[in-house]
Amino acid sequence: MKNQLPFLIYMRWTLLIELLCTTFIKRILLALSHYYLKKKMIPISDNLKNTVRKSNQRKNVKNVSLKFREPNRKVIEIIWTEIDNFIVLKREILDKKLNYLEEIKRYCLLKEDVIKHLNRINLISKNLNSRSKILIERSIVLIYLLRAKNPPSDRQIALKAGYSQRADIIKKIKSHLGILEETKTKHIWIEIDNYIAQERENLDKKLKLLEENEKYHFIKQTIMNYLIAETNLVNRNLSLTKKTSIERAIVIIYLLRSKSSLTFNEIMIKSEYKDTKPIRNIANYFRIYAHLEIDHINQTRVCAKCKRMLSFDKFNTYDGKIRSMCNECDNIRDGINRFQKKLLAAIFITLKSEKGMIVEEFLQRVDQGRKFDVDVKCPGCRLDLHFLPSYDFHHPNPAIKTVSWKKLAVKKVEEIITTLDKEQCVFMCGNCHRLKKSTFIMEHLDEILTENIDWKHYNDNARKSLRRSIRKKKIFEDLYNGVCYYCKKPMVDKLAAIDFHHTIEELKEHTWSKDLRDKEDIEWVKKILLKEKQVGACHNCHYMETAIYFNNNKYDILSKYLSSNIIKKLGL
Ligand SMILES: [Zn+2]
Ligand SMILES: [Zn+2]
Ligand SMILES: [Zn+2]
Repeated sequence: MKNQLPFLIYMRWTLLIELLCTTFIKRILLALSHYYLKKKMIPISDNLKNTVRKSNQRKNVKNVSLKFREPNRKVIEIIWTEIDNFIVLKREILDKKLNYLEEIKRYCLLKEDVIKHLNRINLISKNLNSRSKILIERSIVLIYLLRAKNPPSDRQIALKAGYSQRADIIKKIKSHLGILEETKTKHIWIEIDNYIAQERENLDKKLKLLEENEKYHFIKQTIMNYLIAETNLVNRNLSLTKKTSIERAIVIIYLLRSKSSLTFNEIMIKSEYKDTKPIRNIANYFRIYAHLEIDHINQTRVCAKCKRMLSFDKFNTYDGKIRSMCNECDNIRDGINRFQKKLLAAIFITLKSEKGMIVEEFLQRVDQGRKFDVDVKCPGCRLDLHFLPSYDFHHPNPAIKTVSWKKLAVKKVEEIITTLDKEQCVFMCGNCHRLKKSTFIMEHLDEILTENIDWKHYNDNARKSLRRSIRKKKIFEDLYNGVCYYCKKPMVDKLAAIDFHHTIEELKEHTWSKDLRDKEDIEWVKKILLKEKQVGACHNCHYMETAIYFNNNKYDILSKYLSSNIIKKLGL
């Protein structure tokens, strides 16, 4: 045992030396092979680290060597990874090969190369169904462009890959491949915001001396230079789209953080966007609402139309969101809309009766956006369109009337015109319409005006109606000289078209039709009318007194469908 000991020690030594030698040789060999690979085979790319990380995933890829005719979601993701591996690894070779080609041919060749590779490693079947093939081909182009040094915008990428719009799939691929562009954009916003917060005073001082458009140019340049020099977020040779979007973000953040209360719309114009969405995105990100449209803390919003700051309850909601226009402005817009439809209906009825125009031809003209050279007037009294609100659609044959104007007005133009055509409507002013409808009074007008009535001819209802009319005539003559308070036209022979209008709404206590017309004591009725400052007016004038939406937007309403010639004639 004792003699064997040195031998054993010796054996251990040799083993140790042998082990050391082999590791050493292995190391040299490895280093050599690395050197060789780096030099000859694998292009050194910026994404080498990425490639190494990806090569781990690659093992998984090899394990799924199945030939799918229609790869499912899981396999598609593995395919994306492999496309990404291939593209990142071969980027330089691919670029050299593709760059001199036309864009369409470039992507064809790229697809061919990558598909060949995917076939070779048995990841996709040679007889893929066509839908899957297109999907995979598109994702090849998507990944190729996403991994470019200066990738175009997502929308551009989607278009180039053959999608008709910004595709959801880009997001999925980005998140799967860990391309974190979104967060990068937000980091840039934060940088901009920090810079502006720190330099606000200096910036404002300098900007005071500049013209409006020079101002934005100055901030853009100053902050852009800062981002390039001081952060590693922005690279000097940015694509033009990227550069513009960062510059716009600079202007938006500067304006959002300024003390002036600009609306999203105003910021949109100054930042040269065509939509307020990008501004909303940034404002939401920084939770800047206070002086803007929506203030969630104080529950107020600035109306996009009238620009007043109003509490949330003054706005309607739509889909759970507060509408951008206040209720009042919303109503005005609805009112304008309704009057424009009424105008169109009036034009149609006039053209139909004067020129025999048919519905189809008329609607075609409306579709073409043509304006009409038609002088619309009431067929009874020749009243013009200044009185549009007081006009009615008269049904000469009441039996075929199906719907009131109020209900019809909310329908589509096509349905409105077709219905009015079918029901043979006549466009008529309120006065004339009233007279048309009050046949009994009009037939006995002479008897009423002369108060010479043979009472025994009539039943109780008729007597009641005649008595009312006589009283109305007397009161109207006594108090208002028998003329309309507004248009001064004599109205005694048009009794049915007379209304009593409260000139001061607050004094309103009695109304003619409910409280006054059946009172025998004329003197008492007159006292009430005077006390409540009621005036006798024709229906048309009365209606116009209350048509505030129309009066305030007359030009907008009428000029939508009437030629400039007619608008001039109307003195607008
Ligand atoms: Zn408003
Ligand atoms: Zn009329
Ligand atoms: Zn009048």
